[in-house]
Amino acid sequence: MAKKKKNELEEKLVYNPKFIWNEVDAKTKKEIFRFSEDYKKFIGEVKTEREFVKKAREMAEKKGFVPIEKAKGKAGEKIYVINRNKSMALVVLGKKDILHGANLIVAHIDAPRIDLKPHPLYEDKETFLALLKTHYYGGIKKYQWVNIPLALHGTVYLKDGKTVDIVIGEDEKDPILILPDLLPHLARKVQGERKLFQGIEGEEMNLLIGSMPLKKDEEGEQIKLNILKMLNDKYGITEEDLIRADLEIVPAHKPRDVGLDKGLIAAYGQDDRVCGYTTLRAILETEKPEKTAIALLMDKEEIGSDTNTGSKSMFIEYLYSQIISLTKESFTPKDLYQAMSKTEVLSADVDAVMDPSFKQVHEPLNAARASHGIVITKYTGSGGKYSSNDAHAEFIGKVIELFDKHGVFWQSGELGKVDEGGGGTIAKFMAERNMDVVDAGPGLLSMHSPMEIASKADVWSAYRAYSVFFQYNK
Ligand code: MN
Ligand code: MN
Repeated sequence: MAKKKKNELEEKLVYNPKFIWNEVDAKTKKEIFRFSEDYKKFIGEVKTEREFVKKAREMAEKKGFVPIEKAKGKAGEKIYVINRNKSMALVVLGKKDILHGANLIVAHIDAPRIDLKPHPLYEDKETFLALLKTHYYGGIKKYQWVNIPLALHGTVYLKDGKTVDIVIGEDEKDPILILPDLLPHLARKVQGERKLFQGIEGEEMNLLIGSMPLKKDEEGEQIKLNILKMLNDKYGITEEDLIRADLEIVPAHKPRDVGLDKGLIAAYGQDDRVCGYTTLRAILETEKPEKTAIALLMDKEEIGSDTNTGSKSMFIEYLYSQIISLTKESFTPKDLYQAMSKTEVLSADVDAVMDPSFKQVHEPLNAARASHGIVITKYTGSGGKYSSNDAHAEFIGKVIELFDKHGVFWQSGELGKVDEGGGGTIAKFMAERNMDVVDAGPGLLSMHSPMEIASKADVWSAYRAYSVFFQYNK
């Protein structure tokens, strides 16, 4: 059959995002799949912000990045700064100093999950089970997290001042934790009459952690004591130590390919570690940029970017001050504000792609589609663009020009119909600093679930987009 002749006028006038698999040759397809394997390995190992920072530091040091205290301020120099083990900046100094602005990409490395309460462990005398009380983190549909294998990741600060890192549930031989759901036979009234989102309530999210006593026929809470003894034997932890801890419950499963053609990836934590990873890869491969390239890997986005490891923190101003100090003996507040105001930013966060079974929440002209490239999102927010960064025409224009010049597949997207719901990203906190910023990241299906889904072509497009952005100079 003859190939359909392209209408020239249509090509010129009509916006038409490309279905990537129709556009790429076999070699590129192979490259996309190879990149996906690296990504799957990373995201299967790195399931908390602390683990991300630790791994990113290892990878950065191998590539010649040094802590900022050791930096000399030379063009092309590679530097990192870690903030309280939970957020991180990677910097490649430009030939021009940072008063000319920087090319900055910000992603968040926290993800929705279930945290333990500070005093979590109890024994339920009537059921002969020991459980952990939890408090979920971020916007989850709680009912999705029951009856799936869960793992405990965290850091505990012991009384003697030592810290101990814990991972339980990732090794095949490890036990898992689980939130048991009610059997359907008895759920008709207690759950059946609730609304879906209330199917499991916060205080019903109690994790199974034990069922056997420490000693036979003894008084007291023997099942709880048994768990405490096991934790103490292995990690030196007491119950009080759980108060001085960051303990996170995450899905125990590994990333998997989806579909017979393996074009999609399902994995926990892709919002936003898909952007975290692609940004990290891009900055690690950035050599001698004209303008300073900065990757910010931030914490606490899922709960509003508060806390000193989140994007509202003065950590960013402090970072800029440190970078300016590398090349200038002294600087004024004007220098700091100038460097920030001339900085251009991609807010690297995920958007939603159109859901095949719930199309009614999307507006088809403006919904992103799987395998059509990185999604440029002009604004987020809700209720009349409230609480959003609304990117300027000029800046979106520059970004599109850059992507087109380098053959980066991109599409425009808006998160859902007007007044359907909404969400925010870090973009507005960068805009507050007088930086130019637009959201750009891959689209997901099943966002914020224990198994989020991304197209391999879109993950690769994000990586390509971030790579060219770090090198860009205009
Ligand atoms: Mn996100
Ligand atoms: Mn999110």
